[in-house]
Amino acid sequence: MSDRVPYLTSKLQGFGTTIFGEMSALALATNSVNLGQGFPDTDGPREVLDAAIAAINSGQNQYPPAIGVPMLRDAIVEHQRRFYGLEFDATTEVLVTAGSSEGLASALLALLDAGDEVITFEPMFDIYQACIAMAGGQVKAVTLHPPTFGVDIDEVRAAVTPRTKLILLNSPHNPTGKVFNRAELQAIADIAIEHDLIVVTDEVYEHLTFDGIEHIPLSTLPGMRERTLTASSGGKTFNTTGWKVGWLTGPAALVAAARTAKQYLTYVSSGPFQPAIAVGLRLPDSYFAEIALDLQSKRDRLCDGLVEVGFDVFRPQGTYFVTVDIRPLRADGDGMAFCRELPGMCSVVAIPNQVFYTDPRRGRHLVRFAFSKRLDVLDDAVSRLKGLAR
Ligand code: PMP
Repeated sequence: MSDRVPYLTSKLQGFGTTIFGEMSALALATNSVNLGQGFPDTDGPREVLDAAIAAINSGQNQYPPAIGVPMLRDAIVEHQRRFYGLEFDATTEVLVTAGSSEGLASALLALLDAGDEVITFEPMFDIYQACIAMAGGQVKAVTLHPPTFGVDIDEVRAAVTPRTKLILLNSPHNPTGKVFNRAELQAIADIAIEHDLIVVTDEVYEHLTFDGIEHIPLSTLPGMRERTLTASSGGKTFNTTGWKVGWLTGPAALVAAARTAKQYLTYVSSGPFQPAIAVGLRLPDSYFAEIALDLQSKRDRLCDGLVEVGFDVFRPQGTYFVTVDIRPLRADGDGMAFCRELPGMCSVVAIPNQVFYTDPRRGRHLVRFAFSKRLDVLDDAVSRLKGLAR
Protein backbone atom coordinates (compact mmCIF):
# COMPACT_ATOMS: atom_id res chain seq x y z
CA MET A 1 0.00 0.00 0.00
CA SER A 2 1.26 3.47 -0.83
CA ASP A 3 1.94 6.33 1.57
CA ARG A 4 -0.81 8.60 2.85
CA VAL A 5 -2.09 10.87 0.07
CA PRO A 6 -2.90 14.43 1.21
CA TYR A 7 -6.55 15.52 1.02
CA LEU A 8 -7.71 12.05 -0.05
CA THR A 9 -10.62 10.66 1.95
CA SER A 10 -9.77 7.86 4.35
CA LYS A 11 -12.01 5.58 2.28
CA LEU A 12 -9.55 5.81 -0.60
CA GLN A 13 -6.26 5.91 1.29
CA GLY A 14 -4.12 3.01 0.18
CA PHE A 15 -5.51 2.82 -3.33
CA GLY A 16 -2.80 5.10 -4.77
CA THR A 17 -2.28 5.08 -8.54
CA THR A 18 -3.39 1.93 -10.32
CA ILE A 19 -0.60 -0.42 -11.26
CA PHE A 20 -1.77 -0.22 -14.88
CA GLY A 21 -0.79 3.44 -15.09
CA GLU A 22 2.62 2.77 -13.56
CA MET A 23 3.36 -0.20 -15.79
CA SER A 24 2.09 1.40 -19.02
CA ALA A 25 4.28 4.45 -18.35
CA LEU A 26 7.22 2.09 -17.81
CA ALA A 27 6.39 0.30 -21.07
CA LEU A 28 6.54 3.60 -22.96
CA ALA A 29 9.72 4.78 -21.24
CA THR A 30 11.55 1.52 -21.98
CA ASN A 31 10.03 0.77 -25.38
CA SER A 32 8.77 -2.51 -24.02
CA VAL A 33 6.21 -4.97 -25.33
CA ASN A 34 3.24 -4.19 -23.11
CA LEU A 35 1.56 -7.39 -21.97
CA GLY A 36 0.39 -5.57 -18.86
CA GLN A 37 -2.85 -3.77 -19.55
CA GLY A 38 -5.40 -5.96 -21.31
CA PHE A 39 -6.38 -4.25 -24.50
CA PRO A 40 -6.36 -5.71 -28.01
CA ASP A 41 -3.89 -4.37 -30.59
CA THR A 42 -6.17 -4.96 -33.59
CA ASP A 43 -9.41 -3.23 -34.49
CA GLY A 44 -12.82 -4.79 -34.16
CA PRO A 45 -15.22 -5.73 -36.97
CA ARG A 46 -15.50 -3.30 -39.88
CA GLU A 47 -19.32 -3.16 -39.66
CA VAL A 48 -19.10 -2.00 -36.05
CA LEU A 49 -16.51 0.69 -36.80
CA ASP A 50 -18.51 1.86 -39.83
CA ALA A 51 -21.69 2.05 -37.77
CA ALA A 52 -19.97 4.43 -35.34
CA ILE A 53 -18.72 6.60 -38.20
CA ALA A 54 -22.20 6.62 -39.74
CA ALA A 55 -23.74 7.57 -36.39
CA ILE A 56 -21.33 10.50 -36.01
CA ASN A 57 -21.95 11.62 -39.60
CA SER A 58 -25.70 11.41 -39.16
CA GLY A 59 -25.60 13.73 -36.16
CA GLN A 60 -26.04 11.34 -33.25
CA ASN A 61 -23.62 13.40 -31.22
CA GLN A 62 -25.71 14.77 -28.38
CA TYR A 63 -26.82 13.22 -25.09
CA PRO A 64 -28.43 9.85 -25.74
CA PRO A 65 -31.48 8.84 -23.63
CA ALA A 66 -30.60 8.31 -19.96
CA ILE A 67 -31.13 4.54 -20.13
CA GLY A 68 -29.38 4.14 -23.50
CA VAL A 69 -30.47 4.33 -27.14
CA PRO A 70 -33.41 2.02 -27.94
CA MET A 71 -31.49 0.21 -30.69
CA LEU A 72 -28.77 -0.85 -28.26
CA ARG A 73 -31.18 -1.83 -25.49
CA ASP A 74 -33.11 -3.96 -28.00
CA ALA A 75 -29.88 -5.56 -29.22
CA ILE A 76 -28.86 -6.38 -25.62
CA VAL A 77 -32.24 -8.06 -25.05
CA GLU A 78 -31.83 -10.08 -28.26
CA HIS A 79 -28.28 -11.03 -27.30
CA GLN A 80 -29.30 -12.31 -23.85
CA ARG A 81 -32.11 -14.33 -25.49
CA ARG A 82 -29.96 -15.71 -28.32
CA PHE A 83 -27.01 -16.85 -26.22
CA TYR A 84 -28.60 -17.65 -22.85
CA GLY A 85 -32.36 -17.95 -23.29
CA LEU A 86 -32.83 -15.05 -20.83
CA GLU A 87 -35.70 -12.59 -21.34
CA PHE A 88 -35.39 -8.93 -20.31
CA ASP A 89 -37.60 -5.91 -20.83
CA ALA A 90 -35.64 -3.37 -22.89
CA THR A 91 -36.97 -0.39 -20.92
CA THR A 92 -37.03 -1.50 -17.30
CA GLU A 93 -34.50 -4.34 -17.16
CA VAL A 94 -31.61 -2.97 -19.23
CA LEU A 95 -29.39 0.02 -18.48
CA VAL A 96 -26.61 1.25 -20.74
CA THR A 97 -23.54 2.43 -18.78
CA ALA A 98 -20.12 3.96 -19.40
CA GLY A 99 -18.38 0.61 -19.73
CA SER A 100 -19.09 -2.20 -17.33
CA SER A 101 -16.95 -0.21 -14.89
CA GLU A 102 -19.71 2.34 -14.42
CA GLY A 103 -22.31 -0.43 -14.34
CA LEU A 104 -20.45 -2.07 -11.46
CA ALA A 105 -19.81 1.23 -9.68
CA SER A 106 -23.49 2.21 -9.99
CA ALA A 107 -24.60 -1.16 -8.71
CA LEU A 108 -22.29 -1.04 -5.68
CA LEU A 109 -23.03 2.61 -4.86
CA ALA A 110 -26.76 1.94 -5.18
CA LEU A 111 -26.94 -1.30 -3.23
CA LEU A 112 -24.50 -0.86 -0.34
CA ASP A 113 -25.08 0.95 2.92
CA ALA A 114 -22.08 1.85 5.07
CA GLY A 115 -20.78 -1.29 6.74
CA ASP A 116 -22.50 -3.73 4.39
CA GLU A 117 -20.30 -6.65 3.44
CA VAL A 118 -19.60 -7.92 -0.05
CA ILE A 119 -18.31 -11.44 -0.60
CA THR A 120 -16.02 -11.55 -3.57
CA PHE A 121 -13.30 -13.81 -4.91
CA GLU A 122 -9.66 -12.84 -4.92
CA PRO A 123 -7.57 -12.20 -6.87
CA MET A 124 -10.05 -9.63 -8.15
CA PHE A 125 -10.20 -6.91 -10.77
CA ASP A 126 -8.90 -3.84 -8.96
CA ILE A 127 -11.97 -1.63 -9.30
CA TYR A 128 -14.03 -3.89 -7.05
CA GLN A 129 -12.17 -3.05 -3.87
CA ALA A 130 -12.10 0.66 -4.67
CA CYS A 131 -15.81 0.85 -5.57
CA ILE A 132 -16.83 -1.11 -2.49
CA ALA A 133 -14.71 1.26 -0.41
CA MET A 134 -16.28 4.34 -2.06
CA ALA A 135 -19.70 2.91 -1.25
CA GLY A 136 -18.62 2.50 2.38
CA GLY A 137 -18.86 -1.30 2.17
CA GLN A 138 -16.50 -3.98 3.41
CA VAL A 139 -14.81 -6.63 1.26
CA LYS A 140 -14.93 -10.24 2.46
CA ALA A 141 -12.62 -12.01 0.06
CA VAL A 142 -12.57 -15.73 -0.60
CA THR A 143 -9.27 -16.75 -2.16
CA LEU A 144 -9.04 -18.81 -5.35
CA HIS A 145 -5.84 -20.87 -5.24
CA PRO A 146 -3.72 -22.07 -8.13
CA PRO A 147 -3.43 -24.32 -10.03
CA THR A 148 -7.19 -24.60 -10.67
CA PHE A 149 -8.42 -21.49 -8.83
CA GLY A 150 -11.39 -23.60 -7.75
CA VAL A 151 -13.95 -22.25 -5.26
CA ASP A 152 -13.89 -23.63 -1.72
CA ILE A 153 -17.60 -23.38 -1.08
CA ASP A 154 -17.19 -23.89 2.68
CA GLU A 155 -15.10 -20.73 2.71
CA VAL A 156 -17.86 -18.85 0.91
CA ARG A 157 -20.39 -20.17 3.41
CA ALA A 158 -18.13 -19.14 6.30
CA ALA A 159 -17.80 -15.62 4.87
CA VAL A 160 -21.55 -14.95 5.19
CA THR A 161 -22.46 -12.80 8.21
CA PRO A 162 -25.61 -10.87 9.15
CA ARG A 163 -24.02 -7.85 7.40
CA THR A 164 -23.55 -9.61 4.06
CA LYS A 165 -25.48 -7.74 1.38
CA LEU A 166 -24.23 -9.18 -1.82
CA ILE A 167 -21.88 -11.50 -3.63
CA LEU A 168 -19.77 -10.04 -6.43
CA LEU A 169 -18.78 -12.64 -8.98
CA ASN A 170 -16.60 -12.29 -12.07
CA SER A 171 -16.69 -15.08 -14.64
CA PRO A 172 -14.77 -15.56 -16.88
CA HIS A 173 -12.39 -14.29 -14.26
CA ASN A 174 -9.69 -11.64 -14.48
CA PRO A 175 -6.79 -12.17 -13.71
CA THR A 176 -6.83 -16.00 -13.46
CA GLY A 177 -8.77 -16.83 -16.64
CA LYS A 178 -10.93 -19.21 -14.63
CA VAL A 179 -14.47 -19.88 -15.88
CA PHE A 180 -16.76 -20.78 -12.98
CA ASN A 181 -18.34 -24.18 -13.65
CA ARG A 182 -21.96 -25.13 -13.13
CA ALA A 183 -21.36 -26.90 -9.81
CA GLU A 184 -19.56 -23.85 -8.38
CA LEU A 185 -22.25 -21.50 -9.65
CA GLN A 186 -24.99 -23.71 -8.23
CA ALA A 187 -23.29 -23.76 -4.84
CA ILE A 188 -22.98 -19.96 -4.88
CA ALA A 189 -26.62 -19.67 -5.98
CA ASP A 190 -27.71 -21.93 -3.11
CA ILE A 191 -25.94 -19.67 -0.60
CA ALA A 192 -27.43 -16.52 -2.16
CA ILE A 193 -30.94 -17.97 -2.00
CA GLU A 194 -30.53 -19.36 1.52
CA HIS A 195 -29.33 -16.00 2.88
CA ASP A 196 -31.41 -13.80 0.58
CA LEU A 197 -28.37 -12.13 -0.98
CA ILE A 198 -28.15 -10.13 -4.19
CA VAL A 199 -25.48 -11.21 -6.66
CA VAL A 200 -23.72 -8.76 -8.95
CA THR A 201 -21.95 -10.53 -11.80
CA ASP A 202 -19.25 -9.17 -14.07
CA GLU A 203 -19.40 -11.04 -17.37
CA VAL A 204 -17.34 -8.80 -19.65
CA TYR A 205 -15.38 -11.79 -20.97
CA GLU A 206 -18.57 -13.79 -21.68
CA HIS A 207 -17.56 -14.58 -25.28
CA LEU A 208 -13.90 -15.26 -24.59
CA THR A 209 -13.81 -18.90 -23.45
CA PHE A 210 -11.67 -21.73 -24.82
CA ASP A 211 -11.60 -25.49 -25.42
CA GLY A 212 -15.39 -25.63 -25.72
CA ILE A 213 -15.84 -24.43 -22.14
CA GLU A 214 -19.20 -22.71 -21.81
CA HIS A 215 -19.79 -19.42 -20.01
CA ILE A 216 -22.83 -19.89 -17.78
CA PRO A 217 -24.52 -16.67 -16.63
CA LEU A 218 -25.58 -17.03 -13.00
CA SER A 219 -29.00 -15.61 -13.95
CA THR A 220 -29.78 -18.78 -15.88
CA LEU A 221 -29.76 -20.90 -12.70
CA PRO A 222 -33.13 -21.56 -11.07
CA GLY A 223 -34.15 -18.80 -8.68
CA MET A 224 -31.27 -16.50 -9.66
CA ARG A 225 -32.70 -14.23 -12.35
CA GLU A 226 -34.68 -12.30 -9.73
CA ARG A 227 -31.65 -11.60 -7.53
CA THR A 228 -28.83 -11.13 -10.05
CA LEU A 229 -27.62 -7.90 -11.63
CA THR A 230 -25.22 -8.54 -14.51
CA ALA A 231 -22.65 -6.17 -15.96
CA SER A 232 -21.12 -6.59 -19.38
CA SER A 233 -19.74 -4.42 -22.16
CA GLY A 234 -18.80 -4.28 -25.80
CA GLY A 235 -15.13 -3.48 -25.21
CA LYS A 236 -13.75 -7.00 -25.05
CA THR A 237 -16.14 -8.63 -27.53
CA PHE A 238 -15.68 -6.06 -30.29
CA ASN A 239 -12.12 -4.84 -29.56
CA THR A 240 -13.44 -1.40 -28.67
CA THR A 241 -12.24 -0.92 -25.10
CA GLY A 242 -11.91 2.85 -25.65
CA TRP A 243 -15.59 3.28 -26.48
CA LYS A 244 -16.74 2.36 -22.99
CA VAL A 245 -20.16 1.06 -23.94
CA GLY A 246 -21.41 -1.21 -21.16
CA TRP A 247 -24.71 -2.36 -19.75
CA LEU A 248 -26.51 -3.88 -16.80
CA THR A 249 -29.29 -6.44 -17.11
CA GLY A 250 -31.43 -7.75 -14.27
CA PRO A 251 -34.79 -7.54 -12.58
CA ALA A 252 -36.45 -4.12 -12.78
CA ALA A 253 -36.00 -3.28 -9.10
CA LEU A 254 -32.23 -3.88 -9.15
CA VAL A 255 -31.81 -2.04 -12.45
CA ALA A 256 -33.85 0.90 -11.11
CA ALA A 257 -31.61 1.09 -8.04
CA ALA A 258 -28.45 1.13 -10.15
CA ARG A 259 -30.03 3.69 -12.50
CA THR A 260 -30.53 6.07 -9.59
CA ALA A 261 -26.79 6.10 -8.90
CA LYS A 262 -25.76 6.03 -12.56
CA GLN A 263 -27.73 9.16 -13.45
CA TYR A 264 -25.52 11.14 -11.05
CA LEU A 265 -22.24 9.65 -12.28
CA THR A 266 -21.91 10.11 -16.04
CA TYR A 267 -25.67 10.46 -16.62
CA VAL A 268 -25.03 9.29 -20.22
CA SER A 269 -22.03 8.50 -22.40
CA SER A 270 -20.73 7.22 -25.76
CA GLY A 271 -23.71 8.47 -27.87
CA PRO A 272 -22.62 7.44 -31.38
CA PHE A 273 -20.89 4.29 -30.14
CA GLN A 274 -24.09 2.88 -28.69
CA PRO A 275 -25.78 2.09 -32.05
CA ALA A 276 -22.45 0.72 -33.28
CA ILE A 277 -22.26 -1.79 -30.42
CA ALA A 278 -25.86 -2.73 -31.24
CA VAL A 279 -24.63 -3.70 -34.72
CA GLY A 280 -21.92 -5.81 -33.08
CA LEU A 281 -24.33 -7.60 -30.76
CA ARG A 282 -26.40 -8.57 -33.82
CA LEU A 283 -23.48 -10.13 -35.71
CA PRO A 284 -23.97 -13.81 -36.58
CA ASP A 285 -22.98 -16.61 -34.19
CA SER A 286 -19.93 -17.28 -36.37
CA TYR A 287 -18.39 -13.95 -35.33
CA PHE A 288 -18.55 -14.86 -31.65
CA ALA A 289 -17.17 -18.36 -32.28
CA GLU A 290 -14.29 -16.97 -34.34
CA ILE A 291 -13.11 -14.41 -31.81
CA ALA A 292 -12.88 -17.13 -29.17
CA LEU A 293 -10.94 -19.43 -31.50
CA ASP A 294 -8.60 -16.65 -32.54
CA LEU A 295 -7.90 -15.80 -28.93
CA GLN A 296 -7.43 -19.47 -28.07
CA SER A 297 -4.59 -19.67 -30.58
CA LYS A 298 -3.05 -16.58 -28.97
CA ARG A 299 -3.44 -18.14 -25.54
CA ASP A 300 -1.67 -21.26 -26.73
CA ARG A 301 1.11 -19.31 -28.38
CA LEU A 302 1.85 -17.24 -25.28
CA CYS A 303 1.34 -20.06 -22.77
CA ASP A 304 3.61 -22.44 -24.70
CA GLY A 305 6.21 -19.69 -24.89
CA LEU A 306 5.99 -18.93 -21.17
CA VAL A 307 6.41 -22.62 -20.37
CA GLU A 308 9.56 -22.64 -22.53
CA VAL A 309 10.82 -19.56 -20.70
CA GLY A 310 10.51 -21.60 -17.51
CA PHE A 311 7.49 -20.18 -15.67
CA ASP A 312 4.90 -22.34 -13.99
CA VAL A 313 1.92 -21.48 -16.24
CA PHE A 314 -1.76 -21.72 -15.25
CA ARG A 315 -3.40 -22.07 -18.66
CA PRO A 316 -6.63 -20.03 -18.62
CA GLN A 317 -10.07 -21.28 -19.67
CA GLY A 318 -11.21 -17.80 -20.71
CA THR A 319 -10.41 -14.02 -20.77
CA TYR A 320 -7.24 -12.73 -22.34
CA PHE A 321 -4.96 -13.14 -19.37
CA VAL A 322 -2.63 -15.84 -18.14
CA THR A 323 -1.21 -16.08 -14.64
CA VAL A 324 2.22 -17.57 -14.02
CA ASP A 325 4.20 -18.49 -10.91
CA ILE A 326 7.59 -16.78 -11.24
CA ARG A 327 9.43 -18.82 -8.62
CA PRO A 328 11.16 -21.18 -11.06
CA LEU A 329 12.88 -18.08 -12.49
CA ARG A 330 13.10 -15.94 -9.40
CA ALA A 331 13.56 -17.80 -6.17
CA ASP A 332 12.47 -14.96 -3.88
CA GLY A 333 9.06 -14.92 -5.60
CA ASP A 334 8.78 -11.14 -5.44
CA GLY A 335 6.36 -10.46 -8.30
CA MET A 336 6.24 -6.70 -7.73
CA ALA A 337 10.02 -6.33 -7.93
CA PHE A 338 10.09 -8.72 -10.89
CA CYS A 339 7.53 -6.62 -12.84
CA ARG A 340 9.33 -3.39 -12.01
CA GLU A 341 12.65 -4.85 -13.19
CA LEU A 342 11.34 -6.77 -16.21
CA PRO A 343 11.19 -3.81 -18.65
CA GLY A 344 14.83 -2.95 -17.85
CA MET A 345 15.94 -6.59 -18.06
CA CYS A 346 14.21 -7.63 -21.27
CA SER A 347 11.73 -4.91 -22.40
CA VAL A 348 8.51 -6.72 -21.50
CA VAL A 349 5.78 -5.42 -19.20
CA ALA A 350 3.56 -7.62 -17.04
CA ILE A 351 1.33 -7.01 -14.01
CA PRO A 352 2.10 -8.32 -10.50
CA ASN A 353 -0.99 -10.20 -9.30
CA GLN A 354 -0.48 -9.06 -5.72
CA VAL A 355 -2.46 -5.89 -6.56
CA PHE A 356 -5.52 -8.09 -7.06
CA TYR A 357 -5.50 -9.42 -3.47
CA THR A 358 -6.73 -7.88 -0.21
CA ASP A 359 -3.51 -9.16 1.32
CA PRO A 360 -0.75 -8.73 -1.28
CA ARG A 361 1.28 -11.57 0.27
CA ARG A 362 -1.19 -14.11 -1.13
CA GLY A 363 -0.39 -13.23 -4.74
CA ARG A 364 3.23 -12.23 -4.24
CA HIS A 365 4.72 -14.88 -6.53
CA LEU A 366 2.13 -14.56 -9.31
CA VAL A 367 2.32 -12.39 -12.42
CA ARG A 368 -0.23 -11.75 -15.18
CA PHE A 369 0.44 -11.46 -18.90
CA ALA A 370 -2.19 -10.36 -21.48
CA PHE A 371 -2.39 -12.25 -24.78
CA SER A 372 -4.88 -10.00 -26.63
CA LYS A 373 -2.05 -9.11 -28.99
CA ARG A 374 -0.97 -10.08 -32.51
CA LEU A 375 0.92 -13.38 -32.75
CA ASP A 376 4.11 -11.61 -33.87
CA VAL A 377 3.92 -9.37 -30.79
CA LEU A 378 3.50 -12.42 -28.53
CA ASP A 379 6.42 -14.17 -30.26
CA ASP A 380 8.56 -11.07 -29.81
CA ALA A 381 7.68 -10.92 -26.09
CA VAL A 382 8.52 -14.59 -25.61
CA SER A 383 11.87 -14.29 -27.34
CA ARG A 384 12.70 -11.28 -25.17
CA LEU A 385 11.67 -13.21 -22.05
CA LYS A 386 13.87 -16.13 -23.06
CA GLY A 387 16.79 -13.81 -22.46
CA LEU A 388 15.90 -13.93 -18.77
CA ALA A 389 16.51 -17.60 -18.36
CA ARG A 390 19.98 -17.42 -19.87
N1 PMP B 1 -14.44 -6.15 -15.40
C1 PMP B 1 -13.33 -6.84 -15.66
C2 PMP B 1 -13.14 -8.17 -15.04
C3 PMP B 1 -12.36 -6.29 -16.50
O1 PMP B 1 -11.24 -6.96 -16.73
C4 PMP B 1 -12.58 -5.02 -17.07
C5 PMP B 1 -11.59 -4.36 -18.00
N2 PMP B 1 -10.28 -4.66 -17.81
C6 PMP B 1 -13.76 -4.34 -16.76
C7 PMP B 1 -14.67 -4.94 -15.92
C8 PMP B 1 -14.02 -2.96 -17.26
O2 PMP B 1 -14.62 -3.00 -18.48
P1 PMP B 1 -15.11 -1.68 -19.22
O3 PMP B 1 -14.00 -1.20 -20.05
O4 PMP B 1 -16.28 -2.18 -20.00
O5 PMP B 1 -15.51 -0.69 -18.19
